[in-house]
Amino acid sequence: MPEAMVASRASESASSASTQQVDAAVVGAGFAGLYLLHRLRKAGFSAVLLEEAGDVGGTWYWNRYPGARCDIQTIDYSYSFDPELETAWKWSEKYATQPEILRYLGFVADRYDLRRDIRFGTKVTSANWDQAAQRWQIATDNGAKVSCRYYIMATGCLSAPKPPEIDGVKEFRGEVYFTGRWPHDGVKLAGKRVAVIGTGSSGIQAIPLIAQEAAQLTVFQRTPNFALPAHNGPPPADRLAALEGDRAAYRAQARQSLAGVPWPQNTVVSWQLSDAERRERFETAWAAGDLVYILTQLWADQGVDVDGNKIVADLIREKIRGIVKDPETAAALTPHDHPFGAKRPCLDTNYYATYNRPNVALVNLRKEPIKAITATGIATDKRSFDVDVIVFATGFDAMTGAILAVHPITGRDGKALSDVWAQGPQTYLGLTVAGFPNLFMITGPGSPSVLSNMAVSIEQHVDWVVDRIAALRDAGFTTMEATDTAQAGWAKHMADCASLTLHRLANTWYTGANVPGKAQGVMPYTGGVGPYRSICDEVVGRGMLGFRLTGPDAAEQCNDGEVVRLQPDVRLVLGLLASLNLPPIESMGAQGARDFVNEFNKGRPFGRPVGEVGDGVLLGAEGPLPYKLYRPATPGPHRIVVYFHGGGWVLGDQQSDDPFCRDICRRTDMIIVSVGYRHAPEHRFPAAAEDGYAATRWIAEHAAELGGKPGPLLVAGWSAGGNIAAVTCQLARDRGGPEIAGQLLICPVTDCTFDRPSYIDNAANYFLTRGLMFWFWDLYCSPADRTDPRVSPLRGKLAGLPAAFVTTCEFDPLRDEGIAYAEAMAAAGVPVEQLKARGHFHSSFTMVDVVITGVAGRIQMADALRRFAGLPPEVKPAPPKLEAAAS
Ligand code: NAP
Repeated sequence: MPEAMVASRASESASSASTQQVDAAVVGAGFAGLYLLHRLRKAGFSAVLLEEAGDVGGTWYWNRYPGARCDIQTIDYSYSFDPELETAWKWSEKYATQPEILRYLGFVADRYDLRRDIRFGTKVTSANWDQAAQRWQIATDNGAKVSCRYYIMATGCLSAPKPPEIDGVKEFRGEVYFTGRWPHDGVKLAGKRVAVIGTGSSGIQAIPLIAQEAAQLTVFQRTPNFALPAHNGPPPADRLAALEGDRAAYRAQARQSLAGVPWPQNTVVSWQLSDAERRERFETAWAAGDLVYILTQLWADQGVDVDGNKIVADLIREKIRGIVKDPETAAALTPHDHPFGAKRPCLDTNYYATYNRPNVALVNLRKEPIKAITATGIATDKRSFDVDVIVFATGFDAMTGAILAVHPITGRDGKALSDVWAQGPQTYLGLTVAGFPNLFMITGPGSPSVLSNMAVSIEQHVDWVVDRIAALRDAGFTTMEATDTAQAGWAKHMADCASLTLHRLANTWYTGANVPGKAQGVMPYTGGVGPYRSICDEVVGRGMLGFRLTGPDAAEQCNDGEVVRLQPDVRLVLGLLASLNLPPIESMGAQGARDFVNEFNKGRPFGRPVGEVGDGVLLGAEGPLPYKLYRPATPGPHRIVVYFHGGGWVLGDQQSDDPFCRDICRRTDMIIVSVGYRHAPEHRFPAAAEDGYAATRWIAEHAAELGGKPGPLLVAGWSAGGNIAAVTCQLARDRGGPEIAGQLLICPVTDCTFDRPSYIDNAANYFLTRGLMFWFWDLYCSPADRTDPRVSPLRGKLAGLPAAFVTTCEFDPLRDEGIAYAEAMAAAGVPVEQLKARGHFHSSFTMVDVVITGVAGRIQMADALRRFAGLPPEVKPAPPKLEAAAS
């Protein structure tokens, strides 16, 4: 039942001076607002939709410039909530034009009889939270005020055009147009001299058509953008067949995908492909004319690694040079200042070829900036251009503009949203803001929105919001507000996600960099549509985690907390492992567990190339042991790191940490010798420890033969291998060598007790479980031997050990014993550095190229090894500007 006292029809109330009482007020009649209105009604809420424009359409109402089209294939850029609607509408083109999309939205509005609750030509002038009434009070510039329980912004991400920021616009005596506010009756450009300022998606779509009509077109370009041919035409038969073959499955795949379009996740990394294979993939993508395809389907590292990205970017640059005949123009059109995809790339039809026309000229504003707009045209600091028409394709105050700039919003205790967001938007899930009860945003900052197929994101946001407020109502609550903790946690998670992608390396409207003075930071959620959806569901599943719920008839409920504390890629890995429902490793028996680990390792990306990888045999404590040697590509001799793999003294071998050994070899420029020490239960304590020591001795004695530089060795190890590395340092100190310059201990086992908090907090759910650790200990070492420093180095003498770098992970049962060992060594006078990796789990750093957020930590570890060896930090191949993973 609608709770509003007066659920009056919008058309009636618009003319009345009284306040219109509704359950929910929605702003904006675009894709989001229309679906919201439909869902709200179906859920039994009374609602009004306030729209400044004269009709439905949102962005498609305003952006009527020549060439305006969607650039996600239209069959994907459609509502999917009603299968009958889907079959009732047929798109005529792969990328529909603005008029066709507008017709579609009009068709939807009529089909669901939405117009009767829409107040067109109505702009909201203020919105205030009325604490006493627990309602939003909304003033408008046309008709009645509105009082509502829920206030929902469906204002879009790119609806507030950016002012031109160029002096003299008012002086210009010709015609001025903005692509984002194009006149509805069109513009006649024939025979005119036209200037276009701006080469984003709007400019790139408009320029080829303006060039066909105008007498002369001059394009003023500040930053070149990557544009790819759309190859428009009818909807591609294969995609259409996939959709029509199994509509539900097609839409479900889109909802779980990263970008909201049903392409599978790519797992092949660039260095696994030959040049020819990469080119073939690229040419297929270029011919496909699909933005999401080329952004996601070439190789897995293209969006997260500068080297993988550069390969695509270079291939596109080659295409631009191939199309544009004048080399100077081609060079000016070729982007070099950002990775491909970090700034929104564009889909075009004849964009680059347009510069081969005799009536088109490009002005490179990087070489001659605009000084001013004059009465007759545009003056750069080198030349003047007389024109009849100036078209501003200069973009939008994106994501926050339509929410902040449009009207003041005041929340609890009189707090203004513009103040709360002065340093950048703060939200919980991109849907709500702490201090603003019952205010919701559809595709707000902090949601995947503009980094996804908007249609898919909009439906998910709308469903989540309407489902939540319906559930609230049914439970007797009337308000819902995000907590500060939840919001701060979301900001941290957003930053963690952003550190994974390359978006931080570009100045774009995604980061607010296009608006002078705007606070900067990656505004959309970069973690992907599928993961985002699962997080929203998790919030609900965990009792509305991070929300305070109140109501006159219900006890206040506040289940406070952060919904994601893991690094985003760690969350995905653990989610994937959980979905496999694997039996506990300790139930497999030693051989079964080894077989399982070998199989598991086959599925991970290959390590990156190094100079040489070779196998050999060294002498362990009681006989020969295999080893694997990783040699850098640079000329030797190199310093040597002796490496001990993980596996609880039971599992793994000299090649089981292969990607990590390659990575550390590349980053340190050192030889890594990974030792195949003996395993339990066949060889119990102290076999592994004694092998570790003996192997280190042997490697020191044979360093020159191995291509090593004279001088002390370094030792490193992960997990049980970290234990062996630590023990080796103690034994080397006590047994007269070999000399060790430093030890890198990654999540090491250092003690035999299981009662530290990390053993309790992280006992289950993080892959390395308490039960598995018990099993490892039982197989390796009798209780009577467990306090021996050769297996519990924390119990040994610690003075006089080599300098140490100890890495521990927040969600690792072994975290606290690693920290205890670092602190105890430091107390004993050993130089110690620690990396306490927030949001990581036991395997984070060895899952190279899977847990990408581990890169920053691995750089720190490599730098530490180089420091121990007296070398300067290695600058290559570390990617630029990575945020530290350490807390
Ligand atoms: P945009 O991507 O922000 O591009 C604005 C362009 O104007 C940029 O080239 C910018 O240069 C330039 N510019 C801005 N201020 C300037 C100044 N003062 N002097 C000189 N140049 C200036 O805006 P947009 O093209 O309207 O596109 C915005 C977004 O809307 C797109 O990224 C896309 O997400 C969406 N869109 C989608 C479609 C579609 O679906 N087909 C079509 C159009 C737009 P700098 O790069 O140097 O700042």
